Formats: sequence, structure tokens, C-alpha cells
Amino acid sequence: MKNFEAILPGDVAECLDVLAGHGSDAAILAGGTDLFVLMKMGIRTPNLVIYTGGLRELKRAERRDGRIVLGPAVTHSEVAGSQLLAGLEVLKAAAASIGSPQVRNLGTVGGNIVNASPAGDLYPALLALDATVVLKSTNGDREVALEDFVTGPGETTIEPDEMLVAIRFDEPGGKDGGKGRGKVFTGFAKVGLRNALAISVANAALVARAEEGKLTGVRIACGAVAPTAIRMRGVEEVLEGESPTEALIEEAARIASSECAPLSDIRATREYRCHVTGVVVSRLIRRARTELLDADTNMDSPKDTGTHAD
Ligand SMILES: Cc1cc2nc3c(=O)[nH]c(=O)nc-3n(C[C@H](O)[C@H](O)[C@H](O)COP(=O)(O)OP(=O)(O)OC[C@H]3O[C@@H](n4cnc5c(N)ncnc54)[C@H](O)[C@@H]3O)c2cc1C
Repeated sequence: MKNFEAILPGDVAECLDVLAGHGSDAAILAGGTDLFVLMKMGIRTPNLVIYTGGLRELKRAERRDGRIVLGPAVTHSEVAGSQLLAGLEVLKAAAASIGSPQVRNLGTVGGNIVNASPAGDLYPALLALDATVVLKSTNGDREVALEDFVTGPGETTIEPDEMLVAIRFDEPGGKDGGKGRGKVFTGFAKVGLRNALAISVANAALVARAEEGKLTGVRIACGAVAPTAIRMRGVEEVLEGESPTEALIEEAARIASSECAPLSDIRATREYRCHVTGVVVSRLIRRARTELLDADTNMDSPKDTGTHAD
């Protein structure tokens, strides 16, 4: 690895001053689980590394004005164990599925987003939550929809003098802090080549509510199936305002498979990824049906509570 200087700034303001002076010659280091790999491979060669993983300002997770605000330096372990996020299975399961305990203890929410891997697990979960990201520089702040922030594999709209300072989203359970979440479903499912320490071959995240026996506010995002994780808008449309019968779930799975545009790689062929995306999407819809609607409608549906699909 090429030699580099490292600094430990005392706060975000100091980070921003350093970034303003160095631009693309500097790299932010949070957990290092992606950055150091890229530096060892010679793909990233910063002369200056700015360690932000210890900054308390960036490690907060809180409820503010009915929204959840996550600091980018919150780790995957912290997400998975968070009381604040207790009702957000989509986020907790995605975080818990990442790597190994060591990776989850170091790896951060912000690093996962900015690294912009098409197979990243938190990104689809946050897409399904319709999250935004707050970017800061010495010139001010801007808030961008997460969907517009990631533009391709490893590519985002972040500028060299900017850093990610927050991730925000509305609580699907509403401003009561999730007390009404009995009628909200959030879930995440992932298929890897093994049950642990596996990068996603396909993953899916679903957020939906139940109203009068129908699904509403349906948001589905899938990862590892296109250059970036994507919202499955065709699937959302077909489910919105409907009670998901088996026939509708099969149609949703077909649409999900057809909305994929993955590459074949060492982990899976394009055809397998498309097929398995339909499988994980249909499993999530069945889980939503079981948790939200079956008590009301008495539908006969199979149980599947696992995070990993086989
Ligand atoms: C063995 C192993 C297994 C893994 N398994 C998975 C897995 O199953 N699923 C998965 O999704 N990922 C996995 N990863 C990838 C990785 O752990 C995650 O992407 C992690 O979330 C990255 O966070 P980090 O804090 O380590 O980021 P870093 O490596 O510190 O940084 C990553 C990128 O984000 C930038 N960055 C970080 N914070 C900020 C900020 N605040 N503002 C601006 N830029 C910032 C850095 O400059 C860098 O470009 C794995 C990695 C390893 C090594």
C-alpha cells in the first residue's frame, strides 16, 4: 500500500476545512472495511486519510421532528442492536446480514452508502425507507434523495470537498414513534452463496402499510441486480391498494425478475440473479401479508421469517 498521512480531526468543522484544502487528494476513513481494501489494491491512492469513525457528532442515531436521523459513523452492529430502530426490521436485518461480527463492528452506514457497491445491503433498505442524505462542505449543506445520490457502481454525486453528515427518513409507523407499527411491515431478505459472510447475490427490502385489508405505501428496493440498487416501481404499482393473493404475488415476482438488469459474475449468472430476485420479493410480500393482513382476512399463507433465503 502506498504511504499516506492520517489525521484525526476533533470535529466535523475541522474535517471540512481539511477537505476544502485537499479535495480528491484526501479520503475519509470511517471503518476502513472498504477503503483499505481499495487502497491495498491500488485502486484508491489518497495522500491523506481523515479518520471520522470516532467523531461523536457522526455517531448519533435519534428521532427528530418525526424523522429518524442516522449519523454516517453509526456501525452495522449499532444499527442491528438499536432500541431506536426496534420497529425497523428492514434496517436491522440488513445490517445484521453484513459480513462477520468484525466487519459489522467496524463498518458504518455512511461507508456502505458512499462505497456504492451494487451489492451493498444497507442501501436497498434505506431506499425502501425513501431516505435522503445530507452532504456538508465549508460552503453549506445540501439534502439529496438517496436514489439520486448513487449513480453507478462506486459512483455518487458527492463532491471532493463534501462529506456525508446524516441519513434521514420518515418513520413508516408515523410520528407516534412507531406505536402504530402493528399495521406497518418492514422487512429485508438476502440470498448469498452461504448463510454468513456472504456478499448478496440478490437482496430485497420492503416497506408497506395495511389499510382495510389492502397494502398501501408499498416501497420495494432490490440490490445486486443492476448497476445500483433500484426501486422496483412496477412491483410497487401492482401491489398498491391490493390484497396480495397468490396470483398477484406471482405476478409481482415476474415483474421483479423482469426489472432486473444484472451482470453475470463469479457469484451468479444474470439469469439466476433475475430468478432469485423474484423469489426474495415474493417471500417478502408473503411475510407482509402474514404480518399485516392474515389476522383480518384469514388468508392461508406459508410462513417464512428468515433473513437469508436458501
Ligand atoms: C470481509 C468483508 C465482508 C463484507 N460483507 C459485506 C456484506 O455482506 N454486505 C455489505 O453491504 N457490505 C459488506 N462489506 C463491505 C463493507 O463492510 C461495507 O460497505 C461497510 O459498510 C463500509 O463502511 P466503512 O465504515 O468500513 O467504510 P470505509 O471503508 O471507511 O469507507 C468506504 C467509502 O465511504 C467513504 N466514506 C465513509 N464515510 C464517509 C462520510 N461520512 N462522508 C463521505 N464519505 C465517506 C470513504 O471515503 C470510502 O470511499 C464487506 C467487507 C468486508 C471486508
